[in-house]
Amino acid sequence: MSAVEDLAAWLTQIWDEEEQRELAKRTWRSDAPPMDVTYDGRSEGVYVSNPGSSIEHWMSAEDYDRSYLTPAPDKQVLARIAADRKILALHSGEQDWPCQVGNYVEEPCETRLLLASRYQDRPGFRPEWLVERQGVEE
Ligand SMILES: [Zn+2]
Repeated sequence: MSAVEDLAAWLTQIWDEEEQRELAKRTWRSDAPPMDVTYDGRSEGVYVSNPGSSIEHWMSAEDYDRSYLTPAPDKQVLARIAADRKILALHSGEQDWPCQVGNYVEEPCETRLLLASRYQDRPGFRPEWLVERQGVEE
């Protein structure tokens, strides 16, 4: 794998994880009645009760999700990930049209390094991906 492909694969994996995390977010359904919810501590289910009531009813995580919750991804986060993927694709592969006019490139361009720069504290980030080393002003 070339240095360009390594950076792309690493970024894609991070974005896949971010996207999955975002798509898994749930919020209370607008048509669901208000309930008090207590997690059972084993993360296999929840106790629900009418507000203020001491009578609790145990539900599996799946039933709880189906009965009361609805997906609530942050659309801005999903849009940012989609835009970042497109930016990466534009500067992708062996040919980088925006930076190199379609010439073969062996090293990630500044645009790709900038995409990676916000993740530089993550495992797998390589010192050679630091933007400062490429002479880019902050
Ligand atoms: Zn480029």
